[in-house]
Amino acid sequence: MAKILIVEDEKAISDLIKFNLELVGHECFQEFNGKSGLDEALANKYDMLILDVMLPELSGFDIIDYIKGTPVIFVTARATANDKIKGLRKGADDYITKPFDIIELVERVKAVLRRTKGEAKVFEFDGIKVMFDNRRVFKDGKEIILKPKEFDLLEAFINNRNLALTREKLLYLVWEFDYEGDSRTVDVHVQRLRQKLGISNRLQTVYKTGYRLEI
Ligand code: CA
Repeated sequence: MAKILIVEDEKAISDLIKFNLELVGHECFQEFNGKSGLDEALANKYDMLILDVMLPELSGFDIIDYIKGTPVIFVTARATANDKIKGLRKGADDYITKPFDIIELVERVKAVLRRTKGEAKVFEFDGIKVMFDNRRVFKDGKEIILKPKEFDLLEAFINNRNLALTREKLLYLVWEFDYEGDSRTVDVHVQRLRQKLGISNRLQTVYKTGYRLEI
């Protein structure tokens, strides 16, 4: 997974980002002002920078001027269209505004890393091998045939592993729209994944919430 530097002066927000990205397997480092953030970004190799815009000493927009080749996601309270355009024009790979949904941030990080690093083509656990490029799954060397939505659901769980995902969030991630219908659709697909892959112990029900893949 990726090595990520978080430059954010609000410690609670920085800690929240770090905690959740580390749950899904990234390694995170923190700096709390623009100057030390830039020094750190130049001193060490990172796979991604997550930059607040409004920072003491140097802004996130100042920092990105010195950064070449490292993907950047801006996280900022300033939600105006102008800032967004400015951030992207300066070469940011994505932009997210506070307050943000942590699952959405995890997904954006994943998407940017996939674009820039070509990462996570294969994921393995418990003798299960998930190949994202050709969407095939093997268990102990034997192919397990998943239906398209079952594969999408498995991918969403892997990308957000160790995070509790509500049925509504899973409907949004997998069925890709704000689904107002029966969230039992999710339950049925989760049951099938558990049976086909034998992962009932990993794919846990989170009481009154949804599900979590524990790895
Ligand atoms: Ca700030």
